[in-house]
Amino acid sequence: MDTTSGDARFDRYYRRIQLGLRLLSHGARAQTACDWSGLTPDRLITLKRRWLPDAGDGFRGPAPTSFQPFFRSSVRLSHATVFISIHQALCQRSMSHAKSWDLQPGLENGERLCTAYEIFREWEPTADMEFDQAALLARGAASSEDIELFRCLHCQSAMLIDKWARRREVCSGCRGRRSASP
Ligand SMILES: [Zn+2]
Repeated sequence: MDTTSGDARFDRYYRRIQLGLRLLSHGARAQTACDWSGLTPDRLITLKRRWLPDAGDGFRGPAPTSFQPFFRSSVRLSHATVFISIHQALCQRSMSHAKSWDLQPGLENGERLCTAYEIFREWEPTADMEFDQAALLARGAASSEDIELFRCLHCQSAMLIDKWARRREVCSGCRGRRSASP
């Protein structure tokens, strides 16, 4: 009997359950929790009843698909930049340093996404960013089709840019300092 592969399968199964619970505890939409954990909706409902009886329902309705809300407020933009920076730092520790990649839902990617979201929540506990928005940001920045993390040419701070809008070369902080200087 091959106990090693049996252990590995059990390990992945156990990790899927843990990931499913983490996703549910972050209020991920049901479909999002299924996609990233690989668990069925029935399995997730059972897990939630058993282990998270007091957790509220996750967000309902369609998952967010637009990046525009992040660019309409400087606070949201700053939070989005922090989240993507954390996520990319975690990815670079475990992946090749490819400039862009396709972030598909799956166990390892889901675990990293949850870890990034948990670190972000520690950092910005009052931020208005639900898990599905974080997932959207992570995938958007990974593909770098619509958004990209860029470095301010002046101070090197990370800044998130909308690739469809007029390109900004310096961050809002440096722009403010420039216009304030005599
Ligand atoms: Zn700057």
